[in-house]
Amino acid sequence: MGLIQRPNDDASGAASGNGEQGVLLTTVKQAVRLAQKHSVWPLTFGLACCAIEMMASAMGRTDIARFGMEVFRPSPRQADLMIVAGRVSLKMAPVIQRLYEQMPEPRWAIAMGACASCGGPFDDYAIVQGVDCYIPVDVYVPGCPPRPEMLLNGILMLHEKIARGESPASEGGIYVPEGDYEWTGGKPE
Ligand code: SF4
Repeated sequence: MGLIQRPNDDASGAASGNGEQGVLLTTVKQAVRLAQKHSVWPLTFGLACCAIEMMASAMGRTDIARFGMEVFRPSPRQADLMIVAGRVSLKMAPVIQRLYEQMPEPRWAIAMGACASCGGPFDDYAIVQGVDCYIPVDVYVPGCPPRPEMLLNGILMLHEKIARGESPASEGGIYVPEGDYEWTGGKPE
């Protein structure tokens, strides 16, 4: 993408003459990436205390609407970003996976907080030690809980990945556990 300077523009870049500013050149691919980057719609979805901070990111102080993301969608069919905010229990893991599978591609996922990223302080039989045991994660946001600003930072990192044209982690496939979602700790092989 670039701005072509007209021959009669002065050295400062300001256009002279009739006020025309030049020509913006881009490709369809870059235009699509720009549109994707500025229209990521998150799924309305929270699991625990981190979800409160996620909700706060929509408030006036951080104002996620500045990035075209204020539309938290109630249906996975209309969302392309899952923010996993909070600890993931073993019972909830298949539900998260089902919701993720129902989101249209390209789709992205953010693991928000220590619990979603790696189990946090809950090293026990009931909590999954990282949601990436069940769905592919694009960005990890550390903290317990991460402040809304940290979530925004993670979202901006995701935007940069989209703008660079990086493939979503979902293209690597989804881990499908065998049997009845019995999980005994650690990451799947
Ligand atoms: S990371 Fe901390 S704040 Fe977030 S869900 Fe876990 S315990 Fe709660």
